[in-house]
Amino acid sequence: VPERSSSLHPSATDKLSCQMVELFEACQQQPSDLERKEVCRTRLQQDIQQVFSSARLYLTGSSMNGLGCRSSDADMCLVIKGNKKPDAIRVLACLQRLFRKLSYVERTQLIRAKVPILRFREKGRWDDLEFDLNVNNTVGIRNTFLLRSYAYADLRVRPMILVIKKWARHNQINDASKGTLSSYTLALMVLHYLQTLGEPVLPSLQRDYPESFNPLMDLDVVPEGPKHIPPYVSRNKSSLGELLLGFLKYYATQFRWDKQVISIREARAFPKSNSQEWHNKFICVEEPFERNNVARAVHEKIKFDAIKAQFAESCRILHERKDLNSILPFRAVM
Ligand code: ATP
Ligand code: MG
Repeated sequence: VPERSSSLHPSATDKLSCQMVELFEACQQQPSDLERKEVCRTRLQQDIQQVFSSARLYLTGSSMNGLGCRSSDADMCLVIKGNKKPDAIRVLACLQRLFRKLSYVERTQLIRAKVPILRFREKGRWDDLEFDLNVNNTVGIRNTFLLRSYAYADLRVRPMILVIKKWARHNQINDASKGTLSSYTLALMVLHYLQTLGEPVLPSLQRDYPESFNPLMDLDVVPEGPKHIPPYVSRNKSSLGELLLGFLKYYATQFRWDKQVISIREARAFPKSNSQEWHNKFICVEEPFERNNVARAVHEKIKFDAIKAQFAESCRILHERKDLNSILPFRAVM
């Protein structure tokens, strides 16, 4: 990591913390990246309304939750209201036919996952931008703005999560389609660690501001929620580097994967009951609104072992070297 001044960040006075800030500043989504996504969203919504007149398109995921990188895709949720719940696959197949006629869209691909999505690219002058569009998976809109509130509750949250996402991707444990951790799961794991420190860096926002995160709140006002939440004032003054070391140590040695469920809703780990949701699952991370397991993609022992081994190995190396390059070479990220 090049030595540039990161001293503007109050939690970066040591080398490791400065490296984290440098990486964060180099990789975080830029206003121009979001603008491009927003322009495309508006255009797509207009084209989609030719077929589904009442449909509305929302940007979700890391484009909106404050945890995006320059290279992040654009996740979107198409909301179609009506008495009859539309069949997502049928809607997406219809959109696929429509998108094939649009000059600015290419490579559409229908993915029949538990939450079906249409994946496509917007043709760019220099680079293509990837989109993942789902139908009526509105929990994604609610949790995007919950995560955004956490991202801005303390200055340390965004660099922490971005560095950990990059670390996990570099070590091939950040791909739910290959049986490892989704970025969303990783973000919740970081938030959980920050909520459960002896001196917490974060509270449970759902507990402290139930009206802002009411799961029945009208979708149109969901994006307003975070605006009413003041920054959290924590007595924890740990540097970013200390938190990164602590995060790796927590999951390498303290967290009981076989006995505990991560809940950011409750700001604690609760014991696995015998309920179907948590029984026999390798990793249990509660979705803050739907309360199901967001880490269900990790269903093979070999992948679970690889994830745990990566925490242990990186924890050992970073404690010894105190250099971000030792677990995440800067050249591998840029
Ligand atoms: P990246 O920058 O890597 O694209 P991301 O924040 O967009 O990261 P993803 O894991 O791709 O993270 O998820 C995108 C969004 O989809 C999340 O922010 C969340 O709103 C929603 N999402 C993903 N997985 C789940 C899930 N299991 N349950 C509910 N919502 C989910
Ligand atoms: Mg994404």
